[in-house]
Amino acid sequence: MSEKLKQDHFRVSPKKHETDPEQNEGSNSNKPDQYHTGRGAQFNTKNRFLKDERTREHIEGIDDWSEDNSPTQYLEQESKSIVNKVDNPDVGMMYSMNPYAGCEHGCIYCYARNVHEYWGYSAGLDFERKIIVKKNAPQLLRKFLMHPKWDATPIMLSGNTDCYQPAEQTYRLTRGLLEVCNEFNQPVGILTKNSWILRDKDVLQEMGKKRLVSAMVSITSFNEDLRRVMEPRTTTAKQKLKVINELSSAGVRMGVMMGPMIPGLNEHEMQRIMKEARDNGATFTAYTFIRLNGAIKFLFHDWLYKNFPDRADKVWHLLEQSHDGKVNDSRWGVRMRGEGPIAKMVAQQYKKYGKLYGMNAEEWHLDTSIFRRPGEQGKLF
Ligand code: SF4
Repeated sequence: MSEKLKQDHFRVSPKKHETDPEQNEGSNSNKPDQYHTGRGAQFNTKNRFLKDERTREHIEGIDDWSEDNSPTQYLEQESKSIVNKVDNPDVGMMYSMNPYAGCEHGCIYCYARNVHEYWGYSAGLDFERKIIVKKNAPQLLRKFLMHPKWDATPIMLSGNTDCYQPAEQTYRLTRGLLEVCNEFNQPVGILTKNSWILRDKDVLQEMGKKRLVSAMVSITSFNEDLRRVMEPRTTTAKQKLKVINELSSAGVRMGVMMGPMIPGLNEHEMQRIMKEARDNGATFTAYTFIRLNGAIKFLFHDWLYKNFPDRADKVWHLLEQSHDGKVNDSRWGVRMRGEGPIAKMVAQQYKKYGKLYGMNAEEWHLDTSIFRRPGEQGKLF
């Protein structure tokens, strides 16, 4: 990445780490002293929607700009709506609901980072430590489901950010949304990287009996050193397998999402992830191939060279090779899978091991036929 490009996009340029070859001997890291442990992003990128921004012209300067490792802030708000229609040719038309904007899990590759700019924040550190909490989410859902024209189309919980991120322990909004869905017999899909979902086993079990829920746990690696820096506040793969095991034993349809596969970092783990997920009760699977759109390109590049200096060039070139010479990709149909030899190999592995472990073998649908509004006897349409 050119210096000019960096200056154009970094609100606060990370200090270039002076590598001392002797000090770093045997180390796989190029982390500067001010590395924010427990965060994925290490700085704030420019918000493309904001005209005026405070910047730090020279990082040694004394001013009121702070990039310290400040704690996560929860920004409570009363929202106007909670269910969004998503028209996406890659996944089809769907509805999603996200009680939180921003995600403290801090996955460095997260595509939802760019969405944080719509809220007036940065896709970088802000995304992980300024979490918008839609306090009235369950009430909004209830109102939405009461609309006479709503037809019980399944809604994806976590279509954008993780509904079981740490904020949920305090606010219980996901729990509230599930209780409303259970009351109305509204079907939902869930995707999470956090074992906190087990808290809601009781309601999920009830919904499972009615075929009203299908849940996926996202596992990207069994390598704890990698997970700790790549998805710093998520649950370990071992705990995620426990989630799959407990919930599938409780009658909840469970799957494993491998997202994203990153050449040179975790793509070789696909078989193990599918096998162990299957052994613990997962019956379906999906994957995405990494792409770095918008600000994620700069955040990921910085992260990659700080954490994996030994193979950063190789990984970066493989990414370019997989997206027509770039690392970002907006082409429908191609962007989620990539192209070229490495992307093709990942796709082949997915097909081969998916078949071997019996993934996606069954025809299974959420039940939309038993939806009812309180006071109604049954589905009236
Ligand atoms: S858990 Fe999901 S939403 Fe949260 S940062 Fe990671 S990828 Fe993004």
